[in-house]
Amino acid sequence: MIRRATQTLSLLLIFGGMMSVPAAEPVAPPAATITVEQVRPHIELLAGPDFRGRSGLDSLRTARYIARHFRELGLEPLFEDGYLQPIPGALNANAGTQVIGRNVGALLKGSDPQLRDEVIIISAHFDHLGVREGQTYPGADDNASGVAMLLETARRFARSEQKPRRSIAFVGFDLEERMLWGSRWFAAHPPWPLEQVKLFITADMIGRSLGDLPLPLVFVLGSEHSPQVRELLESTPVPDDLKVARLGVDLIGTRSDYGPFRDRQVPFLFFSTGEHPDYHTPRDTPDRIDYPKVARVSNFIADLTLAVANTDESPQWAERPEVPDVEEARTLNQITTLLLDAEKDADIELGGMQRFFVSQVHSKTRYIVDRGNISVAERKWLTRAAQLLLLSVF
Ligand SMILES: [Zn+2]
Repeated sequence: MIRRATQTLSLLLIFGGMMSVPAAEPVAPPAATITVEQVRPHIELLAGPDFRGRSGLDSLRTARYIARHFRELGLEPLFEDGYLQPIPGALNANAGTQVIGRNVGALLKGSDPQLRDEVIIISAHFDHLGVREGQTYPGADDNASGVAMLLETARRFARSEQKPRRSIAFVGFDLEERMLWGSRWFAAHPPWPLEQVKLFITADMIGRSLGDLPLPLVFVLGSEHSPQVRELLESTPVPDDLKVARLGVDLIGTRSDYGPFRDRQVPFLFFSTGEHPDYHTPRDTPDRIDYPKVARVSNFIADLTLAVANTDESPQWAERPEVPDVEEARTLNQITTLLLDAEKDADIELGGMQRFFVSQVHSKTRYIVDRGNISVAERKWLTRAAQLLLLSVF
């Protein structure tokens, strides 16, 4: 994840629409499930001492690690020259142009001759900050967690008997921490015209929780830009102990590799469990990762991808709807519920003013949710309330 432009942006991460879990219709368990035992070794290795924070030559070694897994899974190389896509550039104003990084990608061909030219991209960036002033930045959450999702969703699809109707591309981006250089290069030099991409998914930091609070949330941004994607997002069953919170991407701007695709009006979804105090520090280590959460988010992404890959109607890009989404109030209400519960269980401590804010936002949002709609003025209040509330809590 790249650094935010202002201090308040991440506070807005909390402000979105939490999805209600679909009513209890029995759903057959997925054929194969991604487990803690599968995701953990990738994160421990890639965020371990051997990979030294995945920058420069260590970033190249990471690209090769991912490519080796794609090859072993029998997935086709995505690029003309194989699994790697060289990225030319100059690292500073005085340097000449050279290869400064590599994206890595593989393809699973769709089974339906009518739909296999349409592609869904599952992606994660694999680079991080390397070694700075003698300190290694391991980047376990940012973004070895996303790479584990990428590799294990690829395994799940490659090993499944039933192939999806649309094609799925698995892409690891390099140089995300350098102004999204890798994804910008990919979007400008894609293996097929980008109109064929019906959904772009990326995950960046999916192994911790917002502000280190005991919240079982994963935030999902971008669903407001495609009604079809939003519908499938809402109907895909959410794993136990995970809550999916929808956000409007306009609230946080460009924070990860979805930027270049959003700019080209490709429907997209961005998954993240949010920022925490160890973000972009040497303390972003594997022992602090919530491995069951990484597995849950990975399974949810795999299930959702399968649903989109098999649906009759192709997702289309849409502008953000003008009517405010009452789901945003529901999110804030559910988060304040979780905060009040956490205080009751003595997991967190709220000061007098904090408790006042939390309770006030809790009851006001309850009122909006019960009424079933939210005015433009109320949405403005909600935005300010979210900022105040979270400033006072963190
Ligand atoms: Zn980052």
